[in-house]
Amino acid sequence: MSTVLFIGGLGRSGSTLLERMLGRLDDVCSVGELVHLWERGLKENNRCGCGERFRECAFWGRVGEVAYGGWDRLDVGEVLALKASVDRNRFVPLMVAPALSPAYRARMGRYLELLERLYDAVREVSGRPLVVDASKHASHAFLVRRMRGVDLRLVHLVRDSRGVAFSWTKRMRRAEVVEGDALMATDTPLRMSARYLGYNLLFHLLQATGVRGILLRYESLVRDPAAELARVLALASRPAAAGELGFVGDGWVELGPSHALAGNPMRFRSGRVPLKVDEEWRGQLRRRHRLLTSVSTWPLLLAYGYLAKGAGRGR
Ligand SMILES: [Zn+2]
Repeated sequence: MSTVLFIGGLGRSGSTLLERMLGRLDDVCSVGELVHLWERGLKENNRCGCGERFRECAFWGRVGEVAYGGWDRLDVGEVLALKASVDRNRFVPLMVAPALSPAYRARMGRYLELLERLYDAVREVSGRPLVVDASKHASHAFLVRRMRGVDLRLVHLVRDSRGVAFSWTKRMRRAEVVEGDALMATDTPLRMSARYLGYNLLFHLLQATGVRGILLRYESLVRDPAAELARVLALASRPAAAGELGFVGDGWVELGPSHALAGNPMRFRSGRVPLKVDEEWRGQLRRRHRLLTSVSTWPLLLAYGYLAKGAGRGR
């Protein structure tokens, strides 16, 4: 069995940061958001974390060869159609109980085979046994759970819903797109709140199926990175060795090179980067959006400790 450490949660919750931190460890292969490989790598040929375009990156080239005898052996359109017919949150019940639909089970089997070869090749080419998948999507996590020979461990990453909502109203450029300008997706606070509830509940459901996981708050990761990383590594059954986490300190992290796919623009930064909880929303999120988000996501805000007295600022 090989362990896949999966970072699950809603976008703009710090998954790129966590993934880049873990990538500093010698036995960890941190490959960004594998769920987007077909579309953003294979089809759009966007930039890898190393700065090369996907098709020119030597690492991904080797992975394609080992997995499929070369990327050209795959029909991108077919793979994308297969993915669209399998990897959706609405199919999660069928991922848990595939016997309900033999047609779905057959499609899922074909897609899982592609994924199994991909993850095996990533491990082989990198020479690093622990794969960190920062795909975030719940449906993809349920698929990884079904992969043969994989022991899935879940880092359920959460952030204050008001911070998430504010972040999704901001316009940010997608740094990996080479031709033309593309912006990261934006969304309204109301739709974000619905997704916040839906996504997070799916990760609780995933753990109810027996997957081992921990809840990690973005704010705690930034404020106390060494302690939180140690907790994540314990989840992966490879405790941190003494001095191994010397690349994080109070208010900073030292990032190394990566071949991460997709993710936020900080994917391309390396060297010493300041760590500071992004709480711009406290001053910038419009009052009615703040109220709307607080009210509609309060059960989870409460469960995750965001409504506790003294939560947030100054801690
Ligand atoms: Zn690369």
